Amino acid sequence: MANYARIELHLHLDGSLSVRWAYEKALQRKIIEKSCSFRDFYNMVFRDNTQPHSVSINKFDLMCDLLQTPEDLSEAAYDLSRRLYSLGIWYAEIRFASQQHMKKGLKQKEALLAVISGTKKAMKEVPITVQVIDCMMHKGSSALFNEAQNVETIEAVRDLRKDGACGIDLAGYENNCDFSEYASLFQYAKSLGIPCTVHAGEMGIGSHVIDALNWGVDRIGHGVNCIQKTEYLERVVSSRIPLELCVTSNVKRDMNYGNHAVLSLMEAGAVVTLNSDNMMFARTCCANEHFQMKMLGVTDQTLKQCAMNAVQAAFCDEDTKNRLKEKIEKEEHA
Ligand SMILES: [Zn+2]
Repeated sequence: MANYARIELHLHLDGSLSVRWAYEKALQRKIIEKSCSFRDFYNMVFRDNTQPHSVSINKFDLMCDLLQTPEDLSEAAYDLSRRLYSLGIWYAEIRFASQQHMKKGLKQKEALLAVISGTKKAMKEVPITVQVIDCMMHKGSSALFNEAQNVETIEAVRDLRKDGACGIDLAGYENNCDFSEYASLFQYAKSLGIPCTVHAGEMGIGSHVIDALNWGVDRIGHGVNCIQKTEYLERVVSSRIPLELCVTSNVKRDMNYGNHAVLSLMEAGAVVTLNSDNMMFARTCCANEHFQMKMLGVTDQTLKQCAMNAVQAAFCDEDTKNRLKEKIEKEEHA
């Protein structure tokens, strides 16, 4: 039985911890009371799932609080990489925002190095390739609010490109300020030759996707709201920009997959990849994303194409791409 759920391009470390790992770490680091049971913790983690984005995004704060030392960051990345392998993943790009992990005095580069070290430890033990994307963040009402930190993020990736840092992203609450204010940061990253993706058109309006296209990014995180206007959709399709779709993550409030734009995007000819976003918060994995697509009537051939799109869009070298493509071709006859 062919399984094309092998490549993860959009996966947040802090949103993809195992709930059990997070619970034990929270107890150990005294972030929750000793009296907090696993069931209480579970309810607390998922309480916000029904809230609007502007509120539910705060749930990441608790997970970031668990990940403030090199040891804990590394352990979390190791645990996630091993879990991905056990779920059948061959290649993954884990992302996190190093500037969210400086509460105990870490520099962004140290945080990034810690995450990379966890992935490397896993890669020594099991055959999986994992690279790390560092995310710039939307914070204040102007991009200037944390511009210095965002520049530091770009420079951390620049310094660790050879060690396993593979790209830059922009994450956080998309509607905080004028999206176009981030253009210069992407220009800077591109001038350094760093591959770029950006959360655009997820919570925000479809024109953000067009902004991102104009910056010359390599991929779009989500991008679903390009469906809001025919001209946006046509631009996305004609540009061949890969979209990192995360369907379950988008529909987790009501699980209404039928309302999601994924089928329209596929039918329009957009370059679609299927990803988990937050394995913990969205309670999903790549295999589930593929399963849900099958439930909507998406064929194996299209799922194979999504996997091939992901390989082609991956921030890795040509040898790795060729090896992954060969393996996907073999799946067809598995
Ligand atoms: Zn995301």
